[in-house]
Amino acid sequence: MGSKRLDSISDFNRYGYDLRVTCRCGHVGRIDSKALTAQCVARGLSRQMHAIERRLRCAKCGARDVKCGPAER
Ligand SMILES: [Zn+2]
Repeated sequence: MGSKRLDSISDFNRYGYDLRVTCRCGHVGRIDSKALTAQCVARGLSRQMHAIERRLRCAKCGARDVKCGPAER
């Protein structure tokens, strides 16, 4: 990783990372960054990570308190 900036989901896609979503309940989810980027474009939603983190929700407990990070594909 190092100096790579991952400010938007497009950056994850560009650098070949999927999105790892970690919830405080311990659940770890994985989202295809390419699919998520396409979804944002299709719906006209922001691709910035701070906006994406706000929209995401834990698939297990439904909490919105999730953290995002890169996951190797
Ligand atoms: Zn959860």
